[in-house]
Amino acid sequence: MTMIADNLHQVRARIATACNTCGRAPDAVTLLAVSKTFGADAVREAFAAGQTAFGENYIQEAVDKMAVLSDLPLQWHCIGPIQSNKTRLVAEHFDWAHTVDRLKIAQRLSEQRPAGKAPLNVCIQVNIDGGSTKAGVAPNEALALAQAVAALPNLRLRGIMTIPEPAPDFVAACAVHTRAKALFDALNVAGMGLDTLSMGMTSDLEAAVVSGSTMVRVGTAIFGVRS
Ligand SMILES: *Cc1c(COP(=O)(O)O)cnc(C)c1O
Repeated sequence: MTMIADNLHQVRARIATACNTCGRAPDAVTLLAVSKTFGADAVREAFAAGQTAFGENYIQEAVDKMAVLSDLPLQWHCIGPIQSNKTRLVAEHFDWAHTVDRLKIAQRLSEQRPAGKAPLNVCIQVNIDGGSTKAGVAPNEALALAQAVAALPNLRLRGIMTIPEPAPDFVAACAVHTRAKALFDALNVAGMGLDTLSMGMTSDLEAAVVSGSTMVRVGTAIFGVRS
């Protein structure tokens, strides 16, 4: 087994164990392999080990990688900030965008999604802990943005995404992730029909899974430390 294959195996085991401890089915959580800064060869290795969904932060880097990997049936998720001048690349090349936090960005993605493609899957990024990065909509503004995004053509609103500040311990991490789960549930009570709660990374994936995450975004534990 290659190092990446071995790492993937271990991450899948971590997810399965976390699911077991809280009575969730292991396939209730999708693993997104975050390949930012790593080359196409690393993605190929992960694909050979059964991984098909990949997350990228830097849009031009991702599009270049996609071109080299176009022979593989991969699913690409944009998990980095989306500026207005990058919406066209995202709309044309990605399958998912997790980081929509302004209606203007959603409108551009909707307008620029090519006609022949399936709708772009979208998550609303929520600043669940008031974190210093300031990315994401405030929790109390999430419903209004979700409703506006859901009404746009060529997009399919799937859920919400969070990137909380690193928590000091498991209990603290669960407290923040539980707030995101509560918001996710409230949006569904309001009729949004969401199926995706994108939260949890290498250091907090167990806390995210026991709190209700349906998609963890894992980079370091699969590909190694980024330089
Ligand atoms: C880099 C990144 C990840 C992966 O982080 P790791 O700690 O390497 O697992 C997940 N989500 C987002 C938004 C990221 O930018």
